[in-house]
Amino acid sequence: MTAAGPRIADFRIDGARLTARLDALAQVGAIEGGGCCRLALTDADKAGRDLVVEWMRELGLFVRIDAIGNIFGIRAGREDGPPVMTGSHIDTVRTGGRYDGNYGVLAGLEVVRVLNAAEILTRRPLAVAVFTNEEGARFAPDMMGSLVHAGGLSLAEALAARGIDGAVLGDELARIGYVGDMPVGTIRPRAFVELHIEQGPVLDAEGVTLGAVDSLQGISWQELTIEGQSNHAGTTPLRLRRDAGFAAAAIALFLRELAQRMGGNQLATVGRVELVPNIINVIAQRATMTVDLRNTDADALREAERRLAAFTADLARAEKVEIRARRLARFDPVVFDAGIAARIERVAGRLGHSIRRMTSGAGHDAQMMARLCPAAMIFAPSVGGLSHNVREFTRPEDLAAGADVLLHTLLELAEE
Ligand SMILES: [Zn+2]
Repeated sequence: MTAAGPRIADFRIDGARLTARLDALAQVGAIEGGGCCRLALTDADKAGRDLVVEWMRELGLFVRIDAIGNIFGIRAGREDGPPVMTGSHIDTVRTGGRYDGNYGVLAGLEVVRVLNAAEILTRRPLAVAVFTNEEGARFAPDMMGSLVHAGGLSLAEALAARGIDGAVLGDELARIGYVGDMPVGTIRPRAFVELHIEQGPVLDAEGVTLGAVDSLQGISWQELTIEGQSNHAGTTPLRLRRDAGFAAAAIALFLRELAQRMGGNQLATVGRVELVPNIINVIAQRATMTVDLRNTDADALREAERRLAAFTADLARAEKVEIRARRLARFDPVVFDAGIAARIERVAGRLGHSIRRMTSGAGHDAQMMARLCPAAMIFAPSVGGLSHNVREFTRPEDLAAGADVLLHTLLELAEE
């Protein structure tokens, strides 16, 4: 890239265009308040995918789709071989915002646009990935597409996953026309950099523009099913009850206290509780509940799981209920590539953006890609720390700053 070389340092993405593209994609599955509902492999997800694939083709990217529906837009380099990859996801939770995932994918496309306009051919190919079912809001586990890509979950298991609406993932993938012909795991990148909104309050609270993400919390998801006995709320003495609803509440309370006692980075959340028969004057015969445990420390996360199991065993005896645990997902904490994290920091400094090192509180496709290649993430601030919320917002200037850092980080990696 001799002739164009001297100008490369001045390259910037077009922030207005990036915002316009985010707005356009947000129209697909738009919900009241400015957010999005594009649950994985629904009609809305298909429409979003179609739009992004169209944009990839307009940019001249070679579009490949694998057997789990991951989409890769590939831009050739001066040399063949594994690409430097960026990307994220475009599926959302039911009450999602317009930035989560979409930002990383569309910023990747803006990077390609800058290189196209300058007629720059990088040494290594570049790839922009859109991973299937990152959110896990319809099919568990989350980060499924990247997990299958990285070899952490078999294709057959993923295709057999049953959604909360009873649909089978493989059927839905075929229905929306995204069963690709490329075997999963085909593309092993040289490096992976994911740009994402923080989805937490730290950058916004500290007035720092960007985060260089060098680690990521471990996540443990379980579903607990508690079997008791339905009975009359007026005639059954407390000592003779086998109350599944009470047991569920006791577990929720225990988890909050556990997280407080363990301190550090331990988090615990009960996000879903369903009671049967769910009637005011009937003792619940069954409770189904989810438990989400997170920690940046692998041993501490295991300890939290162990203490929960001990508590539920005691509770089952005391309340004479049966408690079964089913693992929905489990990911150990991840340490990202120190070299890429340091590079992100350097690039941000050079471009005049404040940046701090941080841990990701949420799971991301980058943690799966880290199994395959050096990987790290760039965070842009979420105003008020809001995410998975229609009021999710990142300021346009911060979106542009993150995309510029992505551009120059990828440019450096693609020349090595
Ligand atoms: Zn996301």
